[in-house]
Amino acid sequence: MSADELPAATHTVAEWVASVEAGGPLRGFRCPQCGFTTATWNLACLRCGRVGLLEHALGSAGRVVAFTLLTVPGDEFLNDAPYAYIVVELDGGGRITGWMPSVRTVDGLRIGERVRFMASYKPGVQFVRESDTNDPRKGG
Ligand SMILES: [Zn+2]
Repeated sequence: MSADELPAATHTVAEWVASVEAGGPLRGFRCPQCGFTTATWNLACLRCGRVGLLEHALGSAGRVVAFTLLTVPGDEFLNDAPYAYIVVELDGGGRITGWMPSVRTVDGLRIGERVRFMASYKPGVQFVRESDTNDPRKGG
């Protein structure tokens, strides 16, 4: 396959950032052949190799599958440290990295804990505990 035959991604990084800043939905990709869902750009499906992934709106909530505590942050997060840098398995598929300003110690978060995307004026994908949000689907 030549470079001319490679399909263009359904959205650019700039479009992805704009959607995050607008509060979502988080944009991702879905394989039309096997249904594999991913938040990251790939030339082909990581599961079956199919070229040409489709645009897919990712879930806005999920479970923490990994995290670390950042105590030496970048300039934009100087006033937020320490905070958790997390990997989230989103409902419906796709893993994404983000940050949680409310976590101050390694004991302040558990693997498997439910979290929800919340737009922030800071860069990156901010998550908060699902139990801290007023999700009307939970009945108030
Ligand atoms: Zn696939």
